[in-house]
Amino acid sequence: MHTLSDLENHQIRLASRPVGLPARDNWRFTTEPVGEPADGGIVVKTLFLSLDPAMRGWMNDVKSYIPPVGIDDVMRAGGIGVVVASKSPAFAVGDHVSAMLNVQEYATIAADQMKRAGLFKIDPRAGTPTQWLNVLGMPGMTAYFGLLDVGQPKPGDTVVVSGAAGAVGQTVGQLAKVKGCRAVGIAGGQAKCDWVVKELGFDACIDYKGGSVRDGLKTHCPDGVDVYFDNVGGEILDHVLARINRKARVVICGAISQYNNTAPVQGPKNYLSLLVNRARMEGLVVFDYADRYPVAIAELAEHLKSGRMKSKEDVVVGLESFPETLLKLFNGENFGKLVLQVAT
Ligand code: NAP
Repeated sequence: MHTLSDLENHQIRLASRPVGLPARDNWRFTTEPVGEPADGGIVVKTLFLSLDPAMRGWMNDVKSYIPPVGIDDVMRAGGIGVVVASKSPAFAVGDHVSAMLNVQEYATIAADQMKRAGLFKIDPRAGTPTQWLNVLGMPGMTAYFGLLDVGQPKPGDTVVVSGAAGAVGQTVGQLAKVKGCRAVGIAGGQAKCDWVVKELGFDACIDYKGGSVRDGLKTHCPDGVDVYFDNVGGEILDHVLARINRKARVVICGAISQYNNTAPVQGPKNYLSLLVNRARMEGLVVFDYADRYPVAIAELAEHLKSGRMKSKEDVVVGLESFPETLLKLFNGENFGKLVLQVAT
């Protein structure tokens, strides 16, 4: 009979800190035996990993909202897996869970690490495993609290979101519609723009690769912008700042256009528009809302079930493709929430 110790755990570790885009030699592939869990602990087999733009920031040795990944550590990643061994009364073999599983095939989680790893059982009736990494997972929570708490949209407001076809953006725009707003996306390419309008019900979408964002905003936001949910930063942020209304709210969720910079981050040139319009910009870190995730999950699951909201995940198969797959986020090749399938 096979025991856990007979199984190999393939892992991907951070070998060196990248300058600019991460390359294959920034990673090291290792193999370890899986081993039995300690008393109170569990072993989880990774099924799907969430690939996130934030991973690029975690590779830098700088002060942030969480410590960087250490050199030689297994790369940090959230994921969905199945419990394959349990010495915990709270988890049974076969349970599907969400946690920080990291970029590896098996995660051994000790009793005292469960809270830190954000471990919880997922409810398969509320969504598929990949939806639990998307609309019901961290990106969905970011969209929900970023839009509703920070953006504070009112019915009739115009909400603009960049990265509109991505994980966070797709939920921001759909939720804005549910709350009675006009939703205008900004995304790269006609296919993504068509999808957010025709499939997700956004009112319009501006293709920043195919035309002028400035002109697009003029056409599609004739009454100005009340809420801008910014996922990308850079020039697009400046174009939107030029169109904001009095008392507008600019939600600083991310700035993916700046994450691989080798030069200093480009700040907003048009920030005086905040002064003129008595407007504000506010950042958010999704983990601050962890206590309220259950409320957001319940509402978003209900929208999915009723068909008011849809979700799209871009699933790539194979742990070994992690280094190249991660790069899809930074060249816009991902269409929907980027997920790495590690096992079935
Ligand atoms: P995503 O949108 O699914 O994927 C990233 C997308 O960014 C790409 O598909 C690409 O879409 C776009 N992009 C890449 N480079 C760009 C550039 N130079 N200019 C404009 N767009 C560019 O990723 P996500 O997981 O939903 O994350 C979106 C943002 O939210 C990121 O900035 C991330 O860091 C942030 N975030 C923040 C929090 C928080 O707590 N604050 C939590 C989660 C995510 P196009 O094809 O449309 O260019």
